[in-house]
Amino acid sequence: MQTNFSLAQLADPDVANSEQILRTCVHCGFCTATCPTYVLLGDELDSPRGRIYLIKDMLERDRPASEEVTLHVDRCLSCLSCMTTCPSCVDYMHLVDHARAHINETYRRPFADRMTRALLKAVLPYPGRFRAAVLAAFYGRPFGWLLKRFTATRRLAAMIGLAPVSLPPRSRSENPGTYPVAPGGRRGRVAILRGCAQPVLGPQINDAAIRLLNRAGVEVVLPEGEGCCGALVHHMGDADGSHAFAKRNIDAWLAEADGEGLDAILVTTSGCGTTVKDYGFMFRNDPEWAGKAARVSALARDITEYLEDLRLGPAPNPLGLTVAYHAACSLQHGQQVRGAPKTLLADAGCEIREPAESHLCCGSAGTYNMLQPEISGQLRDRKAANLAETGANVIAAGNLGCLVQIGGASDMPVIHTVELLDWAYGGPVPDGLAGLARRTDTTREVDNTLVPTP
Ligand code: SF4
Ligand code: SF4
Repeated sequence: MQTNFSLAQLADPDVANSEQILRTCVHCGFCTATCPTYVLLGDELDSPRGRIYLIKDMLERDRPASEEVTLHVDRCLSCLSCMTTCPSCVDYMHLVDHARAHINETYRRPFADRMTRALLKAVLPYPGRFRAAVLAAFYGRPFGWLLKRFTATRRLAAMIGLAPVSLPPRSRSENPGTYPVAPGGRRGRVAILRGCAQPVLGPQINDAAIRLLNRAGVEVVLPEGEGCCGALVHHMGDADGSHAFAKRNIDAWLAEADGEGLDAILVTTSGCGTTVKDYGFMFRNDPEWAGKAARVSALARDITEYLEDLRLGPAPNPLGLTVAYHAACSLQHGQQVRGAPKTLLADAGCEIREPAESHLCCGSAGTYNMLQPEISGQLRDRKAANLAETGANVIAAGNLGCLVQIGGASDMPVIHTVELLDWAYGGPVPDGLAGLARRTDTTREVDNTLVPTP
C-alpha cells in the first residue's frame, strides 16, 4: 500500500512504525472472510482492510479521530484472526493499538461512553475493587431489564449480566508466596501471573496450575508487587495506564529472575499472555525500560507451552472425556499457540473435538462484551451453538474471559484446560465436573495440597 507521510510525521516513532505496517498491506481482502465483525455486519469498514484504510487516512492527515473512525475501530475485537489469515504478514495488532491510542488522545467520546470507560479502568484492574463490584452487581440484577432499555445504560446492564451470581472462595494463590518442591527434586522455577480478574472469578485455575507444576518438580513463585498486566486499559487506548501496570510487573518479575532465578513467567489467561509477550514492543523506544521489558517478554509463556516442554508423560488418571476445545483468539492468533493445549489434553486421555468456525472469536475480547454487548452477544451465541454441535461432555479453553463468556450461553460445563490436566495428573475433580468424574477412577489418591512457604 502506498503511503503519504511527511518526514516530520515520520519523526514520530509510532507513526513510522505504523507506516511500515501499512506498506505491507496489498489490499487483497483475504482477511475479510475471517473477521468476525465483517462476517456479522458485512460492512467493509468493519473488516480489517476497511479499518486499515480508515486508520491510514486518519494518521496521514494527522487529524483528530472522527466519530466514524472511532465507531469502526471500537467494533474491532482485537481478536487478530486477520493476522493469522493475512498472506502479507500485516502487523494489524500494533496498527490498531496505535489507532486506539490516537483515538484516546484526540476524540472526545459522548458522556455515557466516557463514564463507562472510566468505571472499567477504575475497577477491573484491581482485584479488591472488582470483587466489590461483582457483589454490588448482585443487587443491580433485578434492574437489568430496565437498564437494557436505555442506550445510556445498556452497557451497565451488560456488566451486571456478566457478573456471576456468586464468587468462588478466596484462595491462597491470590497472595504473594512461593510453592516449593521437595529438596533435590526441583526441575525448574517459574513465576505465574496472578493478574486482576482471575483471582476473583477463577482462583481455581492458578491453584490447579501450581499443583500440577509442583507435582512435575517445578517451584512456583507468585511475586510481591505484581498485578494486572495492563491489557484491559491497553485495549481502551490508555498507553500511559498500561505502561504503568507493565512497569510494576517487570520490576516484580526481574527481582525474582535476578534473585533465585526464573525459567519462565507463566500466564494462565491467554489474553494477558499476549500483552506480556508484547512488553518488549511496548517499551521499545524507552531507553530505561526497553531492555528490561524485552527480558520479561522473552521469559513469558503460556502455561500449555511450558507444560508441553516438561513432557508430563502418560496421565495416571486418564479422563476418558470428550472435550470441545475452544481456541481463545489471544492464544491461537495472538500467540500462535495451537497444538500444545490439544496435545496435552489428548495425553490426559481426552478425545478432542474442534467446533466449526474455530477461528472466530466468542465475543469476550477483554472489555468488548461490556462495551459492545450486541455484537458480543451474537458472537457468543454463535460460538456456543458451534460448541454444542460437537456433542462433547465439556468445553475447555485457556482464557478466563472466554470461560465467562461461553459459560453464559452454554449448558455444557466450561473449564480451563489446566484444571483438566491437574485432574488427570493427580489433582482433585474440578468444580462442576463431579458428574463426569464417574468416568474416571475416583478411588485414586488425590493431591489437593496448595501450601506456600511461610
Ligand atoms: S489479508 Fe493482509 S494484505 Fe490482504 S487486505 Fe487483509 S491485511 Fe491487507
Ligand atoms: S482483530 Fe479481529 S475484529 Fe479486528 S479487524 Fe482483525 S479479525 Fe476483525
